[in-house]
This record gives sequence, C-alpha cells and structure tokens, in this order.
Amino acid sequence: MRRCMGCMKELEDEVTECPYCGYIRGTTVKEAYYLFPETVLHKNYMVGKVLGYGGFGITYIGWDLVLNRVVAIKEYFPSDYATRGYGVTRLTIYSGDAALTVIVAVPYPFIVTTPADDTVTTLLSLLL
Ligand SMILES: [Zn+2]
Repeated sequence: MRRCMGCMKELEDEVTECPYCGYIRGTTVKEAYYLFPETVLHKNYMVGKVLGYGGFGITYIGWDLVLNRVVAIKEYFPSDYATRGYGVTRLTIYSGDAALTVIVAVPYPFIVTTPADDTVTTLLSLLL
C-alpha cells in the first residue's frame, strides 16, 4: 500500500492513476522550486502535490507520518527573496545583489502544518 500524492488516500501499489482524485503517480512538479511529492520533512511529514502558491509561501497536501492524518503543509517561501533548484530541497536566498546567491544550510526555515479536517494550527520551529 502507498498513498496518493494528490489526496493522500491509500492505493494499491500497482495503481498509477488515483480513482479518487485522478492524480497520476510520478507527475512532475509544475515549478522547479516546488518540493517533489514524497519528500519527507524531518521524518514527520510527507509532502504531496501543491495546493496553492502565493508570494510568501507554497501550500502542499501532506501526510502526518506520526499521527497518520492528512495535513496541509505551508512552506514559508518568499519568492522575492528565495528560490530553489529542480529536485533540490535547499533554498537559495538572494542577497542584496541579485547576481549573488547564498546557499542556506537549513532547507526549511519553518513549516506550518494545518490538519486538513479541523482548524488547529501547529507552528513547528524546524531550525536546526
Ligand atoms: Zn488521489
């Protein structure tokens, strides 16, 4: 068994297109700076597909591997100041000079997870 990265429902291993949401296994990310589906954050959260993107963050559907529940993962990602290469988990932060970049050692400055089925918001400080 595995989870659909589109809706997090359990699927048989051989299923390639989710019968619940239509997500196709192996679908690539639309933007290079999105985290890849199935990326696991701090051994607790599996990232699914992108639900939304704004100037300051990216929201993914996710799976809480500890509590076994669907969550929304909100990644702080101010696009005016940071970017990420395709398939890379670390962010690149723009310096004052746009030609210069600094690779940040911490891949996720912080992540807010919101259980998708209630209104509780958990703020996790994931600075190492
Ligand atoms: Zn699905």
